[in-house]
Amino acid sequence: MAITFARRMEGLKGSEIRELLKLTEKPEIISFAGGLPAPELFPVEEMKKISTLVLEESGTAALQYTTTEGFPPLREHIADRMNSKNKTNIDKDSILITNGSQQGLDFSGKVFLDEDDVVLCESPSYLGAINAFKAYQPKFVEVPTDNQGMIMEELENIIKTTDRIKMIYVIPDFQNPTGRTWPLERRNKFMEIINKYEIPVIEDNPYGELRFEGENLPSLKSMDKKGLVVFLGSFSKIFCPGYRIGWVCAPEEILSKYIFVKQGADLQASTISQREISKFMDIYDLDEHVDKIKAVYTRRRDLMLKTMKEELPEGLEYTYPEGGLFTWVELPSHLNSKVIMEECIASNVAYVPGGSFFPNGGKENNFRLNYSTMPDEKIVEGIKRLGVVLRKHMEVEAESL
Ligand code: PMP
Repeated sequence: MAITFARRMEGLKGSEIRELLKLTEKPEIISFAGGLPAPELFPVEEMKKISTLVLEESGTAALQYTTTEGFPPLREHIADRMNSKNKTNIDKDSILITNGSQQGLDFSGKVFLDEDDVVLCESPSYLGAINAFKAYQPKFVEVPTDNQGMIMEELENIIKTTDRIKMIYVIPDFQNPTGRTWPLERRNKFMEIINKYEIPVIEDNPYGELRFEGENLPSLKSMDKKGLVVFLGSFSKIFCPGYRIGWVCAPEEILSKYIFVKQGADLQASTISQREISKFMDIYDLDEHVDKIKAVYTRRRDLMLKTMKEELPEGLEYTYPEGGLFTWVELPSHLNSKVIMEECIASNVAYVPGGSFFPNGGKENNFRLNYSTMPDEKIVEGIKRLGVVLRKHMEVEAESL
């Protein structure tokens, strides 16, 4: 029987990277490949209490459907939190609760993209967003970046010379995969350009609260005067991903489209997850919890970067993340991180090869390292193993010069 699938499935093939990453799940492997929060920081005991409390206090409501927009007290908590952390000035009516911010990404594609429309994104960008958008068959135009994120002159040149740009997808805070953050001048310039050309922006911000040092910068959303910015937030990295709760914050005209799409997708996010997180925020201090996470990640980032300095060969470049979960390593241009990864796996250490973070491909000499998941001693051991493999490749290069 010949099964004919929708054309959109043609762009959604399983990747060799995914096959490679499956190998990293073996227990003997020290994996810097995932983007997982540290599980030992999950508030298990608190949530045991909370789940009982929610069921005792409002059991039938917690097990019932709720509105598509989401549980109002949670939306209020989120609006308050955004106003204090992201410097916005919004209320709960600007918030739609989603199943993680990943769902917000999928919905963004659904709301804005027709086949062959253009999405602009940072080069490189978050793989999960690229894959979500691909289902809507757009073209990607990658905007060049440097150590301070998207380069605004390049952005403006691309906008001037490209038709059918429907949205710009960006991660200005502790980007996945690079860990980079846009400074204030870039944010100002970006908003100036956006206002001039009036293009919708998806500001994906799951890591913004995980700042280890330096000053909190205003979100693009807080600088939006024309109603063009859609902000995607998430509890995954500041609380825990298992509840699958994220949110979209957008101007009314845009949010109403997301709400409509949410109805069609799954009616609503889990009522009980929403009520439990809301209750946690009622009776515990989420800031205190985030501080605990930040303390551990700061230590792990420091340890990873220090060990990289000691153990990795000269001639590599890597980012210094002021927050978030990742650092990004650039190898000399002729080296291929996918090929080297196979040797790393044989040495029981893993990273994510960088190629798939470029939607149009063509760059294979970088990789992403995560420092949030592995305990301290494994960070040191894993980077040492990585150093041995990389040194071999860099020495071959030096000899052949
Ligand atoms: N955006 C970015 C940049 C991410 O890195 C992730 C996941 N790590 C997500 C969105 C999706 O996260 P979630 O659905 O768990 O909120």
